[in-house]
Amino acid sequence: MSKLAINGGTPVRETMLNRSWPGAQLYDEKEARALYDVCMSKSPFRYYGINKPNMVNSFEHNFSQKIGVKNALAVTSGTAAVVVALKAAGIGPGDKVIVPACTFVATAGAVICAGAVPVFADVDDTLNIDPKKIGNVVDKYTKAVITVPLLGNPCQMDEIVKEAKKYNLIVIEDVAQSMGASLNGKCMGTWGDLGTFSLQMNKLITTGEGGIIVTDNDKMYERAVRYHDQGMFRTKEGFLTEDAENVLIGQNYRMSEFTGAAACVQLEKLDTIISNNKRIKKILKQELSGINGITFKRVIDEEGDVASALVTFLPTKEKAREFINAVRAENVFFASQYNGLPVYMIPQIFHKKTIDKNGFPFNQFDEEIVYTEDMCPVAMELMPRNAFIFISPDFTDKEIEDIITAVKKVAAEIL
Ligand SMILES: *Cc1c(COP(=O)(O)O)cnc(C)c1O
Repeated sequence: MSKLAINGGTPVRETMLNRSWPGAQLYDEKEARALYDVCMSKSPFRYYGINKPNMVNSFEHNFSQKIGVKNALAVTSGTAAVVVALKAAGIGPGDKVIVPACTFVATAGAVICAGAVPVFADVDDTLNIDPKKIGNVVDKYTKAVITVPLLGNPCQMDEIVKEAKKYNLIVIEDVAQSMGASLNGKCMGTWGDLGTFSLQMNKLITTGEGGIIVTDNDKMYERAVRYHDQGMFRTKEGFLTEDAENVLIGQNYRMSEFTGAAACVQLEKLDTIISNNKRIKKILKQELSGINGITFKRVIDEEGDVASALVTFLPTKEKAREFINAVRAENVFFASQYNGLPVYMIPQIFHKKTIDKNGFPFNQFDEEIVYTEDMCPVAMELMPRNAFIFISPDFTDKEIEDIITAVKKVAAEIL
C-alpha cells in the first residue's frame, strides 16, 4: 500500500469529503417556491392572516400520515419537541426521567428544562438503550424513559415498551436523528406515548430549525398544543377553544408558516434520502467487512435503518483516534461521535450545572443525585472506540470508492 497521507504520502482525495446535511443539500426551486408563496400570501403566522397558506397544518397532516400516527404538532426545534412532550406527559419537578447513556446533550437538557432530572441507562452494542438496563435505574421518582435511535439505527422498541409497562413508565421517543427509521415496519416515534423529531440542519431533512411531536393520545396532544401556544387550544381550523377547565400556562414554541412550507417540501424528499443512504451504506459495509480490527455497530433491523451514518468500532481508544486522524488526512471525514463520551460525561451534566438557583431541579429529591464515570460501563467501553462517517444521499460512486480506498489504506498500515 502507498504511504499514508498523515506520514507525508499523497492523500486518496484532493479535497475533504464531509457532507452531513442531506436535506439542505437537496434544496432546489421547490423549497424556494414554497417560501416565495408564503411571502406572497403575507400570512407567515400559522393561526391567522389574510390568505393563510396553512403550511404548518399541512406538514403536521402529511407527517402523521407518513409515519402512521394520529396527532402531530410542529414546534420550533427538536429540543422544544422533547420539552413539550415531557410537559404533555405531565413530567416536572420531583420526577426522574431515564435517558440513554449515549445521546446528544439536548435529550438530557430538555429533561432539566422540563424541571425533572435525567438518570442514565446503559446501552448495548447498538449504542442505543439496552432494554434490560431500564429496570436498574428505576426508583420511586422515575416517571418516564426517553429512547434515542442514534444515527438512523432503530431501538428495540418492542422490548422497551414491555419493560416500561412493568415499571409504569411513560415512553418518549427522541427520534431527532432517525426520521423514518422503524422496527418490524413500525416507525420509531409511534411505539411509545409520544415521539419527537428535529428539522435542524444535521438531521435527515431540514428547515434549518424546527421540530415535530407525534402521539396517538388525544389528551397528551391537547396538552402539547396548549403548552406550545400560551395555554390555548386552537382547533385545526385556527379558532380558539375556550375551556376554563383545561387551560394551563404555556410557552411559545409555535412553528412559522415559512418553516412549515419548507418542511412540506423536504418531507417529500425523505424517502429518496433514506433509500440512497441505505444503498450507500450497504456498499460500504460489503466492501469494508472483514477488515481486521474494524467492526460495525450492530443494527437490529436492516430494513428499518435509515442509514444516516456508518458507525464502526476500533480495538482501542488510541487506535480509534489514530484511525480517525489518518483517514482524515486522506481527506475522508471520519469523526468520533460525541467525542467518544457518554452524554453524562459532558461537564455541565456531570457536575449538574443548571442555570437555576440552589441547584434546581436537582434539589427536588430527599437524596442527592450522583453521577459517576462508571455508572454505564458498556457506554464507557464502546464510545471511546467509535469512529463514524455521515452518509450523504448524493455521494457519487467515485466518492464511495474514495471512502473504501481510504479506510482500507489506513487499516492496512495501522491495524
Ligand atoms: C439534534 C438532536 C436534538 C435537538 O434537536 P434541535 O432541533 O437541534 O433542537 C435532540 N435530540 C437528539 C438525539 C438530537 O440528535
